[in-house]
Amino acid sequence: MKGIIFETFGGPSVLTYTTIDDPHAKPGEVLVRVHGAGVNHLDLDIRAGTSGFDVSPPLVLGREAVGTIVEGGPDARTKVGTNVVVSAYRSCHRCEFCQRGLINLCQNAIRPGIETNGSYAELIRVPEDQVYPVDDGHDLMALAGIQLSFGTAWHGLITRAGIQPGETLLVTGAAGGVGHAAIQLGNLIGARVIAVVGSAEKEAFVQTLNPWYVINYKKHSLVGTVLEVTRGSGVDVVFDGVGGRFLEDGYSAMHRGGRYVLYGAHGGESTLVNLIKVFRSYGTLMSTSGWTEHDLARVLNLMLEKRIRLNYEVVPLEAASNAHRRMEQSVVVGKLILRP
Ligand SMILES: [Zn+2]
Repeated sequence: MKGIIFETFGGPSVLTYTTIDDPHAKPGEVLVRVHGAGVNHLDLDIRAGTSGFDVSPPLVLGREAVGTIVEGGPDARTKVGTNVVVSAYRSCHRCEFCQRGLINLCQNAIRPGIETNGSYAELIRVPEDQVYPVDDGHDLMALAGIQLSFGTAWHGLITRAGIQPGETLLVTGAAGGVGHAAIQLGNLIGARVIAVVGSAEKEAFVQTLNPWYVINYKKHSLVGTVLEVTRGSGVDVVFDGVGGRFLEDGYSAMHRGGRYVLYGAHGGESTLVNLIKVFRSYGTLMSTSGWTEHDLARVLNLMLEKRIRLNYEVVPLEAASNAHRRMEQSVVVGKLILRP
C-alpha cells in the first residue's frame, strides 16, 4: 500500500510518501481501507518530536480515519464492506478509567498515530471493537475529522465545563478544527459565543458560523473588547487551546467564578501567570483532553441531523507534508482531510 511514513523527527519534509507492506487483520481485528484521514495539530507535534508522548519512528502518522472494512480476522463479526469511523483510541476496557467510560484517559491505550501506525495510509489495521459503523446519510469525509474537533469540543464544553444556556463563552483559535466546533456547540446550547481569530480571512470564515461576536485580536484589544461587549462582566467560560501568554488575558476576560477550560498550548507550553489574578478570579481552571464514546455518539447524531458541520478541505495523501506546512503557517480554516 501507499502511505506516509517518517523515519526521524523533524520538519514537514521528513514525511515521505512511499510503499509500505500491506497490513492484514489478525484475530480480533479488521482491516480498513481509508477514505479520509484527518490532519491534526497533534500530528505536527508528533512529527517534530515535541508532543510529549513516547513516539518511536518509523511511524505512520494519523489519529483519525474513516473508511471501509475490506478484511476481517478469523472471528470478525462486522461485515466486509461496512463503513466505519476508526477510533482515535484503542482503550483496554479494563483499567480504572475505561471502567468509568473515560477511554480518553486509558492507562494502556495503544493509539493510532502515536503508539502504533495511524491513518496516513491506504490501509489501517484496527481491533474490531475500536471501530464505529457509520449510519447511512453521513458525509464520510466529514467523519474523518469529527473526533479531535467535535469530540474534544463536546467533552470540554458540555461534559467538563457544563456550559449552560445564556452563558457567555470565549473560544480562542476559533477558526481551527476544535474552535469552529466549539462555536457551533456553544450556539446549540444557547450560549453567547465570542470567537477569537487572528486574521481577516479567519474572521470571515467564523462569521459564517454565526457567533455572537468576533474579535480579531491582531486588530483589537481582546480583553478590552470582551469587557466592552459583556458590559464589564467578562465571560463565564473560556475555551482555550492557545495557552502560553494568552492565559493571563483569558483570566482578565473571565467573569468572577468562571471556568477556564484548557485543551492545548499551541501558543506556548510554559508561561508566567500572575497568580493573584488567578486566585482572586474565584474561577475554576480545568483541563480537558479527548472525548468518551458517549460524547462521540452525541456529535455523530448531531452531524447526521445536520445541526453541526465540519468545515474541511480534502487534499491528496501524497501532499501530507504540504498540509503540515500550511498548518504550521496557521492559514487553515477548519480541517484538512487527507485522501489516499
Ligand atoms: Zn483502559
